[in-house]
Amino acid sequence: MRQSKLFIKTRKEAPADEVSKNAILLTRAGFIHKEMAGVYTFLPLGLKVLNNIENIIRYHMDEIGRELLMSALSPMEKWQNTGRLETVDVLMKTSGANEVSKVKSTNEYILNSTHEEIITPIVAEYIRSYKELPVSFYQIQTKFRNEARAKSGLLRGREFRMKDLYSFHKDEEDMKKYYEEAKKVYMNVFNDLGIGDDTYITLASGGDFTKEYSHEFQTLTETGEDTIYLDRKNNIAYNKEVVNEETEKKLGVKFNDMEQVNASEVGNIFPLNIKFSEALNYTYANDKDEQLPVYMGCYGMGPSRIMGVIVEKFADEKGLVWPESIAPYSLHLISLAKSDETKKKAEEIYEKLLSFGVEVLFDDRDESAGAKFADSDLIGIPMRVVVSDKSLSAGGVEIKERVAEKSEIVGVEEFLKEWSTGGSCACC
Ligand code: ATP
Ligand code: MG
Repeated sequence: MRQSKLFIKTRKEAPADEVSKNAILLTRAGFIHKEMAGVYTFLPLGLKVLNNIENIIRYHMDEIGRELLMSALSPMEKWQNTGRLETVDVLMKTSGANEVSKVKSTNEYILNSTHEEIITPIVAEYIRSYKELPVSFYQIQTKFRNEARAKSGLLRGREFRMKDLYSFHKDEEDMKKYYEEAKKVYMNVFNDLGIGDDTYITLASGGDFTKEYSHEFQTLTETGEDTIYLDRKNNIAYNKEVVNEETEKKLGVKFNDMEQVNASEVGNIFPLNIKFSEALNYTYANDKDEQLPVYMGCYGMGPSRIMGVIVEKFADEKGLVWPESIAPYSLHLISLAKSDETKKKAEEIYEKLLSFGVEVLFDDRDESAGAKFADSDLIGIPMRVVVSDKSLSAGGVEIKERVAEKSEIVGVEEFLKEWSTGGSCACC
């Protein structure tokens, strides 16, 4: 991609109405555009990162479920059926905006904040026998929530991306077995996203779903909204909301011995047991043809929040720093060519990299070296490659990792050979 064709310009100044690091940097670097508090457009660079995150999630979810895409709008009745129309405190509704629209329909609809009410009747329509259980479905979709606090950029949106998965089982044992498997798959996702080392399975309240604990996946971040009690030795944490004498007794733990840290919830899984199957009257036939309630689990993860968390964790004073697995491009090729010959060489290198299938952003703009380097640091692509009259006379191109202090000169042929296998360099 030629930077001259990106059309989105970087900015030096922080937007006046943002306080969070992630929103400030992502806006300055041209990854997102604010529409209102908690609502952002993902610009081309931002969408690339979001897609990379979602594709990693998708890859792992395909191991444990089938992807579908449910509706974002639903009729009010669906939410009345479980009684949650009156109780979910972030639920939003929508309807015709003006008189001419209301002439067409006066219906009101729910903008789904989660999808238990939608998925359960769908599965109930198809899966009625023990022979067909267990099944699980997931989606990656935009969710809507009437959040009170929306000052943390992508960490808390009123419109945000969620991966939600729902599993259906013939009994509690099968549900629990799947639940444990899902925990492992979740950790694989966070490892691939580059935040695995700092992400802890955290016991949290089951909300109104279950009397047991739910399990959050909390990533250590100074600016995280949650406080967790971390037991590093046992590789487990406890959300502050369950830190009390009752939990200490029940689990035989001592919260006094634990570290209190800030974290951000990047995932949350719940054993739903039969809450929704009972409310929606979903039963299956066992081998004796008796009707029994289906056991369910639900498994959420927040791709757009994860993008914000990664910014908060890795960005430095110069700008964004993307882990390789989700970076918008693998290489930032910068031409500082003055002579026609060097210009030609930079174009040649760009074309070669494209032919290798390398994701490369080519800064072919007519800007100063200083402006190009500042933009490159702000955008945060893991590897920078400079082609200049000076680098060529020193023997090749000048390469530098985003987080490294020093650059080095590598011969053009050698550099191209290293990247000839596409995404990653052949040396590591
Ligand atoms: P929180 O406690 O942060 O409000 P939640 O417990 O209500 O989140 P869940 O219903 O468990 O959220 O949603 C699943 C996942 O979706 C969360 O773990 C989080 O990663 C993400 N998520 C939830 N709410 C938001 C939001 N407002 N903006 C961005 N991501 C969100
Ligand atoms: Mg949660």
